[in-house]
Amino acid sequence: MHKKIVGGGFKKVLYTLNTVRRIGVKDAAKALAAHNACKACGLGMGGQRGGMINELDEFPSVCNKSVQAQSTDIQGPIPLPVFDHTIADFKELSSHEIEHLGRLGTPLHKEAGSDKFEPIGWDDAIARTVERFSASSPERSFFYASGRSSNEAAFVLQLMARLYGSTNINNCSYYCHQASGDGLATTIGTGTSTVELADLGKSDLIFVLGANPSSNHPRFIHQLKNCRERGGHVVVINPAKEPGLVKFAVPKSPKSLLMGGNDIASEYLQPKIATDVAVFKGIAKSIIENQQHNVEFIAEYTRNFDAYLADIEGTSWSEIESITGLSRDNIHAVAEVYAQSENTVFAWGMGMTHHLHGVDNVEAIANLAMLRGMLGKPGAGLLPLRGHSNIQGVGTVGVKPVLAEDVFSAIENELKITLPRNKGMDTMACLQAAERGDIDNALMLGGNLYAASPDSQWAEKSLDNIPFKVFLTTTLNQGHVHGCDNSESIIFPVLARDEEHDPTSQESMFNYVRLSDGGIDRLDNLRSEVDILSDIGMGVVDKSSFDFSTFKQHTTIRHAIAKSIPGMQDLAGIDVAKKEFFIRNRIKHTPEFNMPDNRAVFIVNPHDHPEERKARHAFTLMSIRSEGQFNSIIYEESDSYRDTKHRHSVLMNEDDIASLGLKEKDKVTLRSDTGEMRNLDVVAFDLPRGNIAAYYPEANVLVGQTVDQRSRTPAFKSVPVSVEAQVVIGTAG
Ligand code: SF4
Repeated sequence: MHKKIVGGGFKKVLYTLNTVRRIGVKDAAKALAAHNACKACGLGMGGQRGGMINELDEFPSVCNKSVQAQSTDIQGPIPLPVFDHTIADFKELSSHEIEHLGRLGTPLHKEAGSDKFEPIGWDDAIARTVERFSASSPERSFFYASGRSSNEAAFVLQLMARLYGSTNINNCSYYCHQASGDGLATTIGTGTSTVELADLGKSDLIFVLGANPSSNHPRFIHQLKNCRERGGHVVVINPAKEPGLVKFAVPKSPKSLLMGGNDIASEYLQPKIATDVAVFKGIAKSIIENQQHNVEFIAEYTRNFDAYLADIEGTSWSEIESITGLSRDNIHAVAEVYAQSENTVFAWGMGMTHHLHGVDNVEAIANLAMLRGMLGKPGAGLLPLRGHSNIQGVGTVGVKPVLAEDVFSAIENELKITLPRNKGMDTMACLQAAERGDIDNALMLGGNLYAASPDSQWAEKSLDNIPFKVFLTTTLNQGHVHGCDNSESIIFPVLARDEEHDPTSQESMFNYVRLSDGGIDRLDNLRSEVDILSDIGMGVVDKSSFDFSTFKQHTTIRHAIAKSIPGMQDLAGIDVAKKEFFIRNRIKHTPEFNMPDNRAVFIVNPHDHPEERKARHAFTLMSIRSEGQFNSIIYEESDSYRDTKHRHSVLMNEDDIASLGLKEKDKVTLRSDTGEMRNLDVVAFDLPRGNIAAYYPEANVLVGQTVDQRSRTPAFKSVPVSVEAQVVIGTAG
């Protein structure tokens, strides 16, 4: 029997204090108190109000993820003798070990025929980069950004790539929330949250859909707890019963700690993996059957309701029950809570987007919000829970394969330039082109594209098939040592956000733009991302087209963004006024949508039948992140919220374990059409039968290259797999 786990609590406080002690109390305090945006999740914290304060002036708004993120930056430089080791030696290191070698303190070069990194001077590294990109045609290159970088660096990246002549510009959202942007665009004409943080405080119902904020957006739990304390409801819909969403002891609240935690979910539905459209149709069906929909809102502010109504009426309860594995009564109960709500916020994570029908899922959520008029008023709306701290900003300032025509024109007018209009390749398409030998050069601004990609063996080969790669990073990760055996690469060490010599800006998932002062001195041989990108831009773009030396000042870049990116006007003076702001026209407190005739649109999609896709495999696997990790960065091997001692574990329903003749801690192999994972420990977990979970990014060896055709997102969370018992030789009998 597993022990009862409560999320948060004193152990989180102790863990955070231990991390602070390990990195040094003085250094940690300096980093946390400085006026910089939190480096971890997209919820957003810090900036000009103070290092541990959110936009509602709540203090302290810090969490252990924030401290963890600081812990890798507050390290000394990797000693140069470490680079006497071969690439093969580096590959032996775990993700945790390689990140904790220290900060990268010098540019590195790896020749195509070499098996080692060699330190290289800055000028030589820039010159080599310029030489390689100049020698190839722009269509044979791609440019990728993670959500770590600033708005300023991201804007320079996309502009430099476009002026160089490549439109293969993408960011890591193609592996996470692209489906959210696409699904919001088709329904309400925007791509981001319609609510601000303050709206959560006015809601009486928060849906948490396919997300585990107890581990991934810790401070969001505070909002859920507050909603419950106001007498509101929190409905969680997630195949896995996550202990941190059942009960959570909020570290900031002595009462919460003393009473052993607060109940978080008031209702918890556990549908089978990838059946979400059917779940939402079930909730809608109940609402419509009971005449609880908002007829006035639908008539006045939406379109296409008749088609939606016909689809819902044409979907039978027996079909909904058999697809989702949920009972009609359980769906009715949640629908009734929704029907009684005055103000509902729908928040979702990658449990909605990491599927072959991620955009359909997001559209189904938006439909449900429209059905009861939960859009276009304070306290209600749609909230994608974005991952990395500036992933939303990176997309806002143009790191994507094509821009809206008005943005193209505005940039061209402002900077007196001409930009290519053709749509470039998304992230998967770039790697597939690399596999075919169609890519010569790639530049990666942060991130770990190797670990983030599906089909790990294929990803490694595809990356190695790119003759020349450039990375900008603060620390080494597996993406720098996998996929480089036969190719050349240069790794530039960059300043972290709080070390920049010139302030930078970041955008939270609530569309709130913060200014980070930077200014903390840690290592002396690092450069700003903007500085490096501008130098490369000066080399690969003719000065008569655009002079990138003008972009060495972040203020100049911010003025260009303010003049050309919709809603960003207030960025121009942010470093003088120190006034942070919400991007204009994004938060929807009135029912006017960015669509023709200002109406939101109901979108009808067929519901998925994931059982039919399983074919040769009996189980559907979702990849999950642990309490001790952030994106692909691993801080701890164990997962305290799920009681797994190490990451080489597979979480299964206990009846499935028994039916396979297994018991907990037995070793199994997972096999998919793409790959296999051996020696996994079986762990019993509250999941629907036939559904299992294993940790990302390790489980990416099982994930295929098939993508949601609409958002181009791989199905990281619905992989058909087989579970095979491993015979342990010598212990039989
Ligand atoms: S919840 Fe997110 S933004 Fe807030 S402190 Fe934690 S990691 Fe930073």
